[in-house]
Amino acid sequence: MLPGQGHRHNAPRLESVNSEETVDVVLIGGGIMSATLGSLISQLEPDWSINVYERLGEVAQESSNAWNNAGTGHAALCELNYMPENADGTVSAAKAVSINEQFQVSRQYWAYLVSIGALPEPHNFINATPHMTFVKGRANIEYLRKRVEALRDEPLFPDMEYTEDLERIAEWTPLIAKKRNPRQKVAATRVESGTDVDFGALTKYLLSDLERRGASVQTNHQVTWLKRQKDGTWKLRVRHLVGQTPKVVRARFVFVGAGGGALALLQHSGIPEIKGFGGFPISGQFLRTTNPKVVAQHQAKVYGKAAVGAPPMSVPHLDTRVVDGETALLFGPFAGFTPKFLKTSTWFDLPFSIRLHNLGPMLQVGLKNFDLVKYLVSELLASRAKKMAALREFMPTAKDRDWELITAGQRVQVMKKDPEKGGVLQFGTEVITGADGTIAGLLGASPGASTAAPIMLDVLARCFPDRFVGWEPRLRQMIPSFGRELSIDPAAAEASLSETAKVLELTA
Ligand SMILES: Cc1cc2nc3c(=O)[nH]c(=O)nc-3n(C[C@H](O)[C@H](O)[C@H](O)COP(=O)(O)OP(=O)(O)OC[C@H]3O[C@@H](n4cnc5c(N)ncnc54)[C@H](O)[C@@H]3O)c2cc1C
Repeated sequence: MLPGQGHRHNAPRLESVNSEETVDVVLIGGGIMSATLGSLISQLEPDWSINVYERLGEVAQESSNAWNNAGTGHAALCELNYMPENADGTVSAAKAVSINEQFQVSRQYWAYLVSIGALPEPHNFINATPHMTFVKGRANIEYLRKRVEALRDEPLFPDMEYTEDLERIAEWTPLIAKKRNPRQKVAATRVESGTDVDFGALTKYLLSDLERRGASVQTNHQVTWLKRQKDGTWKLRVRHLVGQTPKVVRARFVFVGAGGGALALLQHSGIPEIKGFGGFPISGQFLRTTNPKVVAQHQAKVYGKAAVGAPPMSVPHLDTRVVDGETALLFGPFAGFTPKFLKTSTWFDLPFSIRLHNLGPMLQVGLKNFDLVKYLVSELLASRAKKMAALREFMPTAKDRDWELITAGQRVQVMKKDPEKGGVLQFGTEVITGADGTIAGLLGASPGASTAAPIMLDVLARCFPDRFVGWEPRLRQMIPSFGRELSIDPAAAEASLSETAKVLELTA
């Protein structure tokens, strides 16, 4: 059944034209974003027909795959880049609070899906993992103290422990302290209620549930072309990559959840809203160990401070990861550069994304981010020995033989036109929507998968403004804090944290 009354698009009911399939919603890409949006739509409008197209042979093989990202449930409990020191030396909690607030929306939605049996036992995709910060040197310790102070009374950050005592750190996680110079000045924080999330597994579960609810999820299908029709619908050409057979599909609403492939598709769509946007790809690597003796000595995600010039998401961290029931440790990321926008695409992505309207902003970004370019070149040239040395800053006893280098997912950072600066590079996420609300897409990668639920709610609010008000009671059933700020309501924050921890079985 098609979306009808109350919808501001006045397109006529869709009929099959020349045997073209017609659906209410097409989701391009089988990653966490499409999966989350599909899940929300199917809960809100169970009768809408949904087709998901994924170009690879399986869903969740790009950024959402467990080993292509770090699996941190980003709640700003340990990521220092969400609370940088201001020029006047003060530290503000605002951004960290807003990231945490967004993560609570995702947690509540996942808890709801577990409670109705739409997602399986939570340990299959989320596990309690304390979130720690670890810094060295007086200036960094001073900064960390200020950070703790700024978060002390924040309802979403209860129970943050702080220490400058190496023995206490050794109790929290032996690997950080073992064989460390006891005279070194160090400090750490720990929040027990952090999480490790297997976003790959979560994506697969969400899409399987979507299929059970009647959607069609088609792998090996690449969307190669899309065009808005006079009646307000979208025509898409989809190529079956095994048989090479093309087909045409019509949709009333299209979500471009193609990750690194989104910029090209949105440019292709011809919507004016994409003008001035470009993409800056940053590749990455992680060091990984599965040696059970090493793994057993670390049960946390420990984030440090980023190097000068490093992009905010390149903060080094040593993480416990639980993937497919196996526990491993991950260290990184080490940034790099390739012109590819997806791990599995080609080197033509960057040059082919250049248009007259984004050339200026892209050049400005190149000229104004010399520190970043310098940092990327130094990372590119870093030998394995240098990477192991970076790991030993965290884990002095790390042995070469225990660690393998793996290639992480591609991030495509957003470059966009700026009236004052010409062009800016931003590290967040940008939702692009067509003016008539029939198409939306997502650019950028941070805070990423953790905030998939609030970001997709934003897509729904922007694309279906007339229907959204009617959806609100249902949304409040699924996400109890929907429309409210937990950070200004200590009782609600406490209830949200404890309720979701119970349903998601998050006990460390
Ligand atoms: C190194 C790294 C570390 C990260 N760490 C974290 C973290 O710790 N916590 C966190 O919350 N987030 C993290 N992220 C971010 C997070 O992984 C992403 O934000 C998220 O996975 C993006 O999901 P997506 O669905 O938009 O994209 P993807 O998962 O990349 O999915 C897009 C899909 O679209 C498909 N596709 C592309 N073009 C087409 C087409 N034309 N037709 C059909 N299909 C197409 C692709 O094959 C792909 O499967 C990290 C990312 C990286 C790269």
